[in-house]
Amino acid sequence: MPELDLVVIGGGVSGITAAAHARRAGRVVTLLEAGERLGGCCHTWRPCDDYWLELGAHTAYNSYGALLALNPDPAFGNLIARAKVGYHFIEDGRPSSPFARLGFLEAARYLPFGLGRGKSGIDVETWFTALLGPGNWRRLLAPAFAAVLSQPAGPYPAEWLFKRKQRVKAAPRKFTHAGGLQGWLAELASGLDVRLGRTVQGLAVAADGVRLSLADGELTAREVAIAVPLDIAARMLGDVVPELAARLGATPMAECDTHAVVLPAAAVRLPPLAGLIGADDDYYSAVSRDYLPHPHWRGFAFHFKPGRLDTGGRRAAIARVLGCAVADFAHETSKVNRLPALTPASVTLAGQLRAALAGTPVRLVGNYLNGLSLGDSAHYAAQGG
Ligand SMILES: Cc1cc2nc3c(=O)[nH]c(=O)nc-3n(C[C@H](O)[C@H](O)[C@H](O)COP(=O)(O)OP(=O)(O)OC[C@H]3O[C@@H](n4cnc5c(N)ncnc54)[C@H](O)[C@@H]3O)c2cc1C
Repeated sequence: MPELDLVVIGGGVSGITAAAHARRAGRVVTLLEAGERLGGCCHTWRPCDDYWLELGAHTAYNSYGALLALNPDPAFGNLIARAKVGYHFIEDGRPSSPFARLGFLEAARYLPFGLGRGKSGIDVETWFTALLGPGNWRRLLAPAFAAVLSQPAGPYPAEWLFKRKQRVKAAPRKFTHAGGLQGWLAELASGLDVRLGRTVQGLAVAADGVRLSLADGELTAREVAIAVPLDIAARMLGDVVPELAARLGATPMAECDTHAVVLPAAAVRLPPLAGLIGADDDYYSAVSRDYLPHPHWRGFAFHFKPGRLDTGGRRAAIARVLGCAVADFAHETSKVNRLPALTPASVTLAGQLRAALAGTPVRLVGNYLNGLSLGDSAHYAAQGG
């Protein structure tokens, strides 16, 4: 008889949502997280007592129903509405509205033929080029979507980019939390049996459940939900669904070199903004904390295209864009962010994996099965894979 009921592997948004919804449904859940914090891609960096900055995901919407359903306060008093600030390109060293890049004549020529076109099996570049024209794709949409996805956006499946979802009207439309998104996820996980610093190295299906191998021994569970990054999930599934696991593992991972700085507000030349879209520069996006202004500090997380600049180059680029000196940076940190590079074939593979795992004690959740946003990851995870 297995010692545990349901084990969830991975403490990002997918694992937390899968675990919390399963617990509500009466399961006894154990969540194993390799790192020393919950959150995964929701990584809120706190360089000083009164200031934090998101190094990964930064924006949550009131369409993220599976997450909002777990919120401890049904009136959502713990969520903070984001101040209304927008994204900009930089043109001639100054912020410029994305609309300035929209070619209206080209859009008008393409729109009547592109509207209403199905998205199934089509990548984002093909779909949006048909909708607004190749010039608008190149100048505006390709860099804007790359900023959203932190990777080149063209190959991404069109049906997974923007999905129509119901909004929870009682919650702020776009929001954060006093502890940032990592703090919010930790709040949603409260009451769960969370074990940090537990890296699952492999798993095998046994007669009465699943055997998990960890560095310091083995665990057995009736059922396991895998909620780890795609390449690690593919390795874990190697003995369960070998052929599909090999195909999942062949999906590339997209990296970005994130470099974040916090500096005195007076040192920054830019007006308050949600962030910058890198376009032809070395970064996909530079996400600010101006949606939750602070009287003294401003913070920016630059998500650089991978392998282009060393640390010195990234610092110089940040100073150039912000119009300040490197010496103005009061706090700095960096990390590599990783996301799956999804394509329309990922949508098909997700369906095949779902079907193949249906009769096994192994479930798979994660941002490669339903889209990259927190809401999409959570929506799928809440259904249990
Ligand atoms: C820079 C960036 C900006 C983003 N911005 C937004 C945004 O503004 N809004 C939005 O909706 N989405 C955003 N996203 C996307 C979103 O954050 C991710 O798609 C989502 O958080 C993925 O969650 P996950 O739980 O599936 O995976 P992850 O967050 O990767 O979590 C996986 C967890 O598994 C753990 N793990 C790994 N291996 C093991 C193991 N062997 N054993 C145990 N645990 C293990 C990891 O430590 C990690 O905690 C952004 C992503 C990035 C990178």
